[in-house]
Amino acid sequence: MTSYRITGARLLGADPTDLLLTDGRLADLDDAPTDAVTVDADGLVALPGLVDLHTHLREPGREDSETVATGSRAAAAGGFTAVHAMANTDPVADTAGVVEQVLNLGLAAGYCDVRPVGAVTVGLGGTRLAELGAMADSAAQVRMFSDDGKCVSDAVLMRRALEYVKAFDGVIAQHAQEPRLTEDAQMNEGTMSGVLGMQGWPAVAEEAIIARDILLTAHVGSRLHVCHVSTAGSVELIRWAKGKGWNVTAEVTPHHLLLTDDLVATYDPIYKVNPPLRTSGDVEALRAGLADGTIDCVATDHAPHPTEDKECEWGAAAMGMLGLETALSVVQQAMVDTGLLDWADVADRMSVRPAQIGRLGGHGQPLEPGAPANLVLVDPAATRTIDPRDSASLSRNTPYAGRELPGRVVATFLRGRATVLDGKLQ
Ligand SMILES: [Zn+2]
Repeated sequence: MTSYRITGARLLGADPTDLLLTDGRLADLDDAPTDAVTVDADGLVALPGLVDLHTHLREPGREDSETVATGSRAAAAGGFTAVHAMANTDPVADTAGVVEQVLNLGLAAGYCDVRPVGAVTVGLGGTRLAELGAMADSAAQVRMFSDDGKCVSDAVLMRRALEYVKAFDGVIAQHAQEPRLTEDAQMNEGTMSGVLGMQGWPAVAEEAIIARDILLTAHVGSRLHVCHVSTAGSVELIRWAKGKGWNVTAEVTPHHLLLTDDLVATYDPIYKVNPPLRTSGDVEALRAGLADGTIDCVATDHAPHPTEDKECEWGAAAMGMLGLETALSVVQQAMVDTGLLDWADVADRMSVRPAQIGRLGGHGQPLEPGAPANLVLVDPAATRTIDPRDSASLSRNTPYAGRELPGRVVATFLRGRATVLDGKLQ
């Protein structure tokens, strides 16, 4: 296995230092083998490999939009060394058999660690609990469970799921969307939906479920993770729950940190996503919540869709956007270049905390000798114009096409192996 000597990297944005990667781990520089390959990292920032809690890899079932292999390559290109693969596949990842299949596809691809998320209910049907224990005990060691795409709206089922996962330190990740309040919803409910005459998705539909789940979690003493928080009111609720000392964590997507619902006026379904893009006031509250730690982490909600499902009229289009390859750049623009986070904070919100929430060992650890060599080198001074044709994903539905974004992933290492080098997938 090739050893790498990385020279002049700014560890978490601090002063330049050298790093040695050998036998899959970070090692003392004195132990450098004579044949170690030198990587010039002058001006680059070194971060622990990014960890995504929320990725849709679409396999099994929708291999026309993404596979575990192509999604893993997109993850590596974006600086990720681990992703959590959501359960809304076909068949649904609601048994030990399916989660082990996804795990094995990830191992075969070899570009990042793919940790399956298990469904909370059988077939995402919302009526019967899935075999949570069997998935936890499987080779995939599932710790996060979610019906993402759908909300576990039945309070009794949600309570039982929260109780059940306590036995193995699991967490329920909720897609907070009150279904009756969002029937036929097309975009955020507010001034813009009124102007455009579209059915609105009100903030209260998210906040009502979060409030209920916070109280349920406190009641049973379990662990709740709130997916893709999108409103200012949700941030307030989570801040309140944390103030009580309850075990509630939350994520925000890159697109909710940057884009707003005015973009819907273009009628371009590239901006159709669930939860919907909100107002500039919500974006401001989400940025502040991520900065002060109320929102624990950034998660991409990478949602690939084939062209025919996005290049159609708004009402018929699928919801979702690509995210893995642009997440770090969007976070740099929204949070670092605005002075809200420094690079050490980015490491915390995009690697350390998501690894902790997912109970994922070997990731999100300090970059010091002995630790697994999972890291990314990023050039914060670079800029790039996003061209969907450059994507490693099978799909092209990025909302940033033609936009100039700051930062570029130069190298990604998964246990000491370069998955990306000189900005190119290996
Ligand atoms: Zn969701």
